Amino acid sequence: MSIVDKVLKRIDGSRDEMIEFASDIFSIPAIAPQSGGDGEMKKVQRILELVGDWGFDEVLWYNAPDNRVPEGERPNLLLKVKGSKEGLEPLWVFAHTNVVPPGDKWTSDPWKLRIEGERMICRGVEDNGQAIVCSLFALRAVLEEGGRPKRDINIMLVADEEVGSEKGITYLLDHHGELFGKDHLFLVPDAGEADGSMIEVAEKSIVWLRIKTIGKTVHASMPDKGINANLAAMRFLTMMYDELHDRYPDREDLFDPPISTFEPTRREANVPNVNSIPGEDISYYDCRIMPQYDPYEVLDHIRKRANDFGAKHHVRFEITTEQMERAAPPTSADHPIVKMIARAVKEVYGVEATAQGIGGGTCAAVLRRAGYPSAVWGKMEDCAHMPDEFAPIENYIGDAKVFARIFMS
Ligand SMILES: [Zn+2]
Repeated sequence: MSIVDKVLKRIDGSRDEMIEFASDIFSIPAIAPQSGGDGEMKKVQRILELVGDWGFDEVLWYNAPDNRVPEGERPNLLLKVKGSKEGLEPLWVFAHTNVVPPGDKWTSDPWKLRIEGERMICRGVEDNGQAIVCSLFALRAVLEEGGRPKRDINIMLVADEEVGSEKGITYLLDHHGELFGKDHLFLVPDAGEADGSMIEVAEKSIVWLRIKTIGKTVHASMPDKGINANLAAMRFLTMMYDELHDRYPDREDLFDPPISTFEPTRREANVPNVNSIPGEDISYYDCRIMPQYDPYEVLDHIRKRANDFGAKHHVRFEITTEQMERAAPPTSADHPIVKMIARAVKEVYGVEATAQGIGGGTCAAVLRRAGYPSAVWGKMEDCAHMPDEFAPIENYIGDAKVFARIFMS
């Protein structure tokens, strides 16, 4: 039996251990402080406890200072295995350890992994626990079979991905840029299709807007004496919804969905009682904009339209950005990392994976903006951030095999 076959067989045999490992680490909430959590440190320490004797050559911390969490820092942990050949570019795998808050509508405890048929269910089991568990088990299987990757394999567990990555990948690029080379290979297993056919190489620009509408509070029976900020906001938000889609219509089939999206999302509570006219409304827009449009031009346009609308309806708008990320140039579909992924996916799943673009927001977008071509891949059901987030156990086994093949190539 070849070494590759032995490694794949070992991964098949590690099914129960993978579930146990997943259930252990996903029971620890790792939520960013701005989403009301205390960070990722406890989860990452637990991961290190579990993998400590798996044979990594180096374990290095690159923590970002952050006084909003009890430990005073946010963990970025590098687990490194040295390659057997000189002169090959290292391969990086980025997996983020933080998760989004569970939200409501869960049918069981979101921090207790539940198995239903062939599915594992709990917060983080897909986003981004699948990447953590599968990459670690893949490397472990290679090492346990006495194999050694040809190139250095660097698994980097990063913090802060769900809320902009300032303490995660961005911190690493700003403070430890010497780690990375332009010709290194970057794999970010943080998005994918249910059949494994998407290798994500491009992302849209992201603009998150906070739109504050200021009117005047009065008794609800006397609307003419005040200015209803709630009504003005609803009119403005729906008007802009249609207008923005019309103004930025380009379609490109590389992306899914193939158009720019402009979605009104969060609204903050206004008056607590029914019989007051709200004098203030705070609403949010999540915009994902095709790379050919300038996101700053979109923002200027929205501000200009807010001024026009405000003058007409006697309200004032304050529009600020919660996140503003310009899309980076796509990674070439012919880049070696894209080809390595496609080959491994074909071997493991029998699927032809192709280069595509998505709505954006993974570590790969940050890497690409800094000039490091990177590719995103996973076999995923796309239930990230939802209640009852799940992952098929088969995806864990299969993705670990894909990573193992990539590690050995
Ligand atoms: Zn993610």
